[in-house]
Amino acid sequence: MFTIKKGVLFDAEVKVPQKPSPNHGGALKASLLVMHYTGSPSFDGAVRTLTDRKAAQRVSAHVVIGRDGAIAQLVPFETIAWHAGASSWKGRSGCNDFAIGIEMVNSGLLGKLATGEYYDRLTHKKVPAADVAIAEHKNGGGMQPWEVFPPAQIEAAIGVAQAICKTYGIRDIAGHDDIAPRRKIDPGPAFPMHSFIGRVLGRRDDEPLVA
Ligand SMILES: [Zn+2]
Repeated sequence: MFTIKKGVLFDAEVKVPQKPSPNHGGALKASLLVMHYTGSPSFDGAVRTLTDRKAAQRVSAHVVIGRDGAIAQLVPFETIAWHAGASSWKGRSGCNDFAIGIEMVNSGLLGKLATGEYYDRLTHKKVPAADVAIAEHKNGGGMQPWEVFPPAQIEAAIGVAQAICKTYGIRDIAGHDDIAPRRKIDPGPAFPMHSFIGRVLGRRDDEPLVA
């Protein structure tokens, strides 16, 4: 069970590993949760990129979730992180100013060799066929191969997102590909966004069963 105290995430009353990122802005009052994938297979590599103050483009997210469900928090939830870039949601632009960002470690859109094998496009590491979903992105591009998200990672993300949405009264969850559809394709069609939102937001206790 995840809880949040003063912007810091706890798992069963124990603070999750903190990897503070220098890439952050001022105070955040979040009304939106944005889901991302890293586009690379390494948890440590993602943490390095998202905490690199010398990068040409400095980026961060509030939380990174590994394929085994491992979690690192990089920015407190009440501080602006730099995950959305040029973006807009429901008529409001600059989503970093009102959104919490979760990065899922995932290779995303894969490459395919002439042999039929799939690979991570950044590292050229092979991805087993069992971890590949062939699907069309809702923003177009035809049928393409995507790395699936393991159940342990999805379950961890649901738990973290539930704590975030409950703590901050958030009722809105979107993908990076929803808030920047011409620029971004993450978290993509392999991420079960519909069931994720259902599990995270569910039915509020104060909502009537029959509307
Ligand atoms: Zn993203």
